[in-house]
Amino acid sequence: MRKAVYPGSFDPVTYGHIDIIKRAALIFDDLVVSVLDNKAKSPLFSVDERVNILKEVCAPFPNVKIDSFSGLLIDYAKENNIHVSVRGLRAITDFEYELQIAQTNKLLSQGTLDTIFLTTSLEYSYLSSSGVKEIAAFGGDISKCVPDFVADKIYAKYDIKR
Ligand code: ADP
Repeated sequence: MRKAVYPGSFDPVTYGHIDIIKRAALIFDDLVVSVLDNKAKSPLFSVDERVNILKEVCAPFPNVKIDSFSGLLIDYAKENNIHVSVRGLRAITDFEYELQIAQTNKLLSQGTLDTIFLTTSLEYSYLSSSGVKEIAAFGGDISKCVPDFVADKIYAKYDIKR
């Protein structure tokens, strides 16, 4: 049984993340998309809100489960008997950061957690959660970045009526 975790902040989930989820779900038998509860960040959406949004977005994919975790990914992976982490790569800037995380996880897990990278589909290479939030905060159009029901929730956070 090939099982993997796709960890991230997903604050909020974008079409870029959804594309990675769809593609990883074709590669693995079981994919757990897990929201990192990072106490060092002040997110727009709570962990519960992000989990619920992801559940709705991933409802069409029967082998995708949604979860959350705090602490180290290697500990979470070990507890859940997962040996592969999926991450997305948009550009060279992602690569340096992602390579460092992947190598650290490999070392700390004593080789039991590997990382595979899926390169972004070109049409989503510009997309980031922080970019989406910045556009939305000024009332800009995010319809090409996130599903409509997610866009509504983002605008509501910024008290923007559209
Ligand atoms: P983190 O806070 O861990 O970077 P994100 O939610 O921003 O979490 O991203 C989770 C993963 O999804 C990362 O590997 C990131 O590179 C990838 N990702 C984000 N946006 C895109 C995109 N548009 N295309 C492909 N991968 C993406």
